[in-house]
Amino acid sequence: MKYNSTQDKSKSVLSARAIAQGISQDGGLFVPESFPRITEKELKGMLSMSYRDRAKLIISKYLTDFTEQEIAECVDSAYTAEKFGSDNPAPIASVEFNGSPLNLLELWHGPTCAFKDMALQILPHFLTKSLQKVGGGKDAVILVATSGDTGKAALEGFKDVAHTKIIVFYPVNGVSAMQKHQMNTQEGENVYVCAIRGNFDDAQTAVKKIFTDTETQAILAENNMMFSSANSINWGRLLPQIVYYVSAYCDMVNLGKVAFGEKINITVPTGNFGNILAAYYAYEMGLPVKRFICASNSNNVLTDFIRTGVYNKNRDFYTTVSPSMDILVSSNLERLLYCLSGNNDAETKGYMDLLKTEGKYTVTTKIMDKLQSMFWGGYADEDATKRTIHDLYEQQGYLCDTHTAVAVSVCDAYIRETGDMTPVVIASTASPYKFSKAVLGALDQGKAPDSEFDMVEKLREITGAPVPAPLASLRGKKARFGDVTDKEGMQGVVLGALGIKR
Ligand SMILES: *Cc1c(COP(=O)(O)O)cnc(C)c1O
Repeated sequence: MKYNSTQDKSKSVLSARAIAQGISQDGGLFVPESFPRITEKELKGMLSMSYRDRAKLIISKYLTDFTEQEIAECVDSAYTAEKFGSDNPAPIASVEFNGSPLNLLELWHGPTCAFKDMALQILPHFLTKSLQKVGGGKDAVILVATSGDTGKAALEGFKDVAHTKIIVFYPVNGVSAMQKHQMNTQEGENVYVCAIRGNFDDAQTAVKKIFTDTETQAILAENNMMFSSANSINWGRLLPQIVYYVSAYCDMVNLGKVAFGEKINITVPTGNFGNILAAYYAYEMGLPVKRFICASNSNNVLTDFIRTGVYNKNRDFYTTVSPSMDILVSSNLERLLYCLSGNNDAETKGYMDLLKTEGKYTVTTKIMDKLQSMFWGGYADEDATKRTIHDLYEQQGYLCDTHTAVAVSVCDAYIRETGDMTPVVIASTASPYKFSKAVLGALDQGKAPDSEFDMVEKLREITGAPVPAPLASLRGKKARFGDVTDKEGMQGVVLGALGIKR
């Protein structure tokens, strides 16, 4: 299996190179040259498999330059019951909301309580092995721009991993109090955390720029280092996410929610378009899916895009109660455009160039038709998000976080508008305790206490939902980091954190 750049198909590399490098030198994203199939027989066979065995089967179709044993080592070290609370790291909780049955795929049982753990617990293993194959003895420097959850999950995945250093940038006013505390208290000798004055898009653009800057690359090379990425632009992030959609389908069959071979709908609360793209890739492999419901918050650039074919990031940016989706430039959409354009690299590059220069592009009717045949876009504003948390709790005693609430709200709107009763899986992406203030506010229980951990405690008292141990243990923990920089200062921060003097 080879990987091509979305902006220059003539480049092709093996998976170890794609993972080690993170992004193609031309600025494009690595994509598999074609999608391997999951046959009906394989899917049937997977019904009786453990999550880990399902993962090995799917991953081996893509990482063909890894041995079976290498893949097994990666999977078995990542998805342990110790780290994810049980042998199934991605269980389904079935509820009824406003009369419709919904199946919540809980992806937040890992060490940092967000779905990012599903990929970032295994990525360091992929990367270490990739570096052994193609790294030429260099250490990897992982640069991360985060809207909150990726940062912590990457820090936790990479802490004290030999031959890696990790530097995380987050928007200073763009993450929840718990997210900030999780990052600033991070342990490990090879980690560094810094806030930036700006929003997530500023952080992501600056990181991408540092990343592909040949001068900075040369400085790193002189110091026997190379950049890599833990953002969802890295193929090693997307691949593990394909697994849980296939696994969810198997669990849906086993739970009697869907007949084998029957189609499902998949709803995903979307920011950078990584999670929903992984679901789409599962469909390209043969998973029976009818429709993808793309749920946004008030930053609804994707809703407009799916409805009109115009992507326009020139609009107000909102800081919402679902901060991990406060994004106007959804990086992984580039991969979908490449796919929907029939792997047309020039066309994809054209859109991305327009996005850079004009902040806007319009896709062809051909792409539009394909897009609308598979995707439905909707958004939930702040009121709808809070109301959904409240109503779901009132109706079912089930407590969901703000991001998941966006998805539940949009899925509910989809069902109302279309009458489509296809069994639906909703990606539930974070523990409610990562966003206690907003969740508590939504439950309408009077004045909330002032401190983050008192809010956690009050939420637990009211609902009885257990507080995940990794969050409970952070109470009273001293911060190690607290620096803030301007965008322009990020490169200096990177070199400083690496101990490189200029
Ligand atoms: C990252 C994140 C999202 C958005 O996922 P994308 O892959 O960026 O679309 C949604 N919810 C939570 C809790 C997240 O951390």
